[in-house]
Amino acid sequence: MRAGRGDLAFKGAVAFATFFALSVQWFLFRWPDWMYSYFVPASELPPGVVSPFFFVAVVAAGTVGAWVTIQLLRSGRTALAMANTLLGLGFWIAIWAATWDRYFHVGTWADWMAGTATPLAQAKAFGLEMNVAGALQGAAGVGTAAWLFVQGRRVRARSAIKPDASPAEWRGVLTGPSLQPAPGPAPITEGEIRGTSPADGRPLEPVRVTPAAEVADLVTRARVAGLRWAALAPNERAHRVKAAGKRFLERAEEAAAILEVETGRPRAESYLTELIPNADLFDHWVRTAPTALQPAPVSIDPLVFPGKRGVVERLPLGVVAVISPWNFPLALPLRTIVPALLAGNAVVLKPSEYTPRIGAFLAQIFAETLGPDLVPVVQGGAAQGQALIEAGVDRVCFVGSPRTGAAVARAAAATLTPVSLELGGKDAALVLADADLDRAANGVIWGAFANAGQNCAAIERCYVDRAIAQPFVEKLRERIAALQPGRDLGPLTTPAQRALVVTQLEEARRRGVAVRIEGDGQRLAPVLLVDPPAGLALLREETFGPVLPVIPCDGEEEMVRRANDSAYGLTASVWSRDLARAEALGRRLQAGVVTVNNHAFTGGLAQAPWGGVRGSGGGVTGGPDALHELTRQRFVLVDSSRKARELWWYPYDASALRLSRGLARLRAGQVGALGEVVGGFLGRMRSLKAADHATAHPAPGAHEPDRIGTQPSKSPAETLEERSGT
Ligand code: NAD
Repeated sequence: MRAGRGDLAFKGAVAFATFFALSVQWFLFRWPDWMYSYFVPASELPPGVVSPFFFVAVVAAGTVGAWVTIQLLRSGRTALAMANTLLGLGFWIAIWAATWDRYFHVGTWADWMAGTATPLAQAKAFGLEMNVAGALQGAAGVGTAAWLFVQGRRVRARSAIKPDASPAEWRGVLTGPSLQPAPGPAPITEGEIRGTSPADGRPLEPVRVTPAAEVADLVTRARVAGLRWAALAPNERAHRVKAAGKRFLERAEEAAAILEVETGRPRAESYLTELIPNADLFDHWVRTAPTALQPAPVSIDPLVFPGKRGVVERLPLGVVAVISPWNFPLALPLRTIVPALLAGNAVVLKPSEYTPRIGAFLAQIFAETLGPDLVPVVQGGAAQGQALIEAGVDRVCFVGSPRTGAAVARAAAATLTPVSLELGGKDAALVLADADLDRAANGVIWGAFANAGQNCAAIERCYVDRAIAQPFVEKLRERIAALQPGRDLGPLTTPAQRALVVTQLEEARRRGVAVRIEGDGQRLAPVLLVDPPAGLALLREETFGPVLPVIPCDGEEEMVRRANDSAYGLTASVWSRDLARAEALGRRLQAGVVTVNNHAFTGGLAQAPWGGVRGSGGGVTGGPDALHELTRQRFVLVDSSRKARELWWYPYDASALRLSRGLARLRAGQVGALGEVVGGFLGRMRSLKAADHATAHPAPGAHEPDRIGTQPSKSPAETLEERSGT
């Protein structure tokens, strides 16, 4: 929807609403007796008085007309909305103009203007109920106008949505994401994943690595199980996945314990960020997928294409590979596995080599509830990930770092396997001068430090209006100091990740920033950096740790410019009391998700799309498009036409050329081509009829002998007999 037109139509709708409300109000107060005369029995009224039904009908028509305008605006049909508004206004004015005398008997328009007009009904003593009724009628008018006004404002806000920010705002590195350094050595030795717990350093139970040679076999078994699964009706699949979701919740405490050992995360945080949101995830998809998978009819103009009907069907892809990271090792794979299963696919899961046990737990729940081969697990690192992509899967859904994402995309390209990539982030939070500082401080701290900052959508840059920077930073300091290790903050999950964060902090220290790097083992105390110098890696690269740089800015323009100056674009947030202003500013941020006065929690809303732009990848989980990514579509068209030929079939004679050329000219706006179209169409009908006739009754001798075969050609009578089946 273009903003200019939207505005015009919006003004039209408001003008209409105002006119509507004023006219109701005017008649109510200028001629109260006349208004109340509706309630007087018809027999007591002089002839010609307006029927109450007529008045109600006019008001209802006005309301419906305004509603239609709003709907048209909403769907982006601004020209039609304008036309509808003008039509409504025209009718409204015409009705009053044409019926003035008849309804009011108050004299002419000139009398009324001169103030000599008199009300039709003479003052009578009406009871309270009449006054109440009149007041209600007036309130209805005012209420409708207010409702229309609010709707209009919303429409206007929506019509102001730009597909993208202006080119001047495209300041990010568009040549591609700057890649993270290679991760540290995988915890894999002698065919086993070993490693130690980040919580307390105790050795973890080894997990067998899936030999690369076994991966293809697992995929084949999943494919066979998937065929049986896909044959079930969507409702039946939903029923069984619901049972898996229930089982998953029954064993939530077990899952939280495994997560605590593998990731070091506080147990409450696992419940809040991984377990409870996944209960909603199962509910949402079980409830919505069966309907969303129904064939969708396509509207085909019956005048242009008579007798045709078509549907789009959504079919399973086959086997979906889910390769996932260690930071939310339960929630992230489930986000894809649940809709993929409901869509009729089998899934092969490759969890991170740092969180193999929770991956095995997940596969076990599905094995228990849906059978052994539908969601098998491949354990290991890069080699197993590559083997899975090369094993002939039908889609790769990858969540991880941009560096690995690039390797995955290359491997998938080699086999032309579709791939979706959900990659890293460098999320910005913009705290405006009028923000509620308490909420903003609490929200930014949670956004930055939840899961010890190991969140793709963690706030890693906070731009704050200079006017409030000092009190805001003070609040941050106080509250960060109150965070307790173990209760609020876990350790970093991998040694390599801690080393990477420390490297970034040391660079800042070398550039003169006062930084305290504290924390034993894999722990790292939260770090607040105020106004660090531009160009630091921790302002450009993903940090993925408990570090919050706060940068004071001179106003909103600078904040937007700096926020967009990034190679990433996963999510972003704006904090302000002025919701409309914050919303408008948020729309200028280059990110896949924008939140006002909150941050990143929408990753847990299965009904909302999640995905990034730029170096943050381009996949989508959540929302209806997620299901589309996990299915293929098939369009089926059925033609019930009994005509022997379509207009566009052979022969291509002069009438075909005339008609098609005329249509092209007409569609280019040349109204003069109408004659050519009509002439071409009639000519075409004649020539097709003649062609049909000629086929049915070929001229004697016109049939050429069969030049290829040796059989003598058939007589026309024989051919006819054959065609008619006699
Ligand atoms: P990673 O890229 O190192 O590993 C991710 C997965 O890929 C692991 O299972 C790993 O074994 C596998 N893998 C590694 N090399 C591979 C290869 N060559 N071919 C196939 N698979 C391979 O990521 P990580 O360190 O586990 O996770 C952290 C990253 O994930 C961060 O960048 C974070 O921002 C990102 N992330 C993004 C989202 C999102 O929704 N956009 C969510 C969570 C995490």
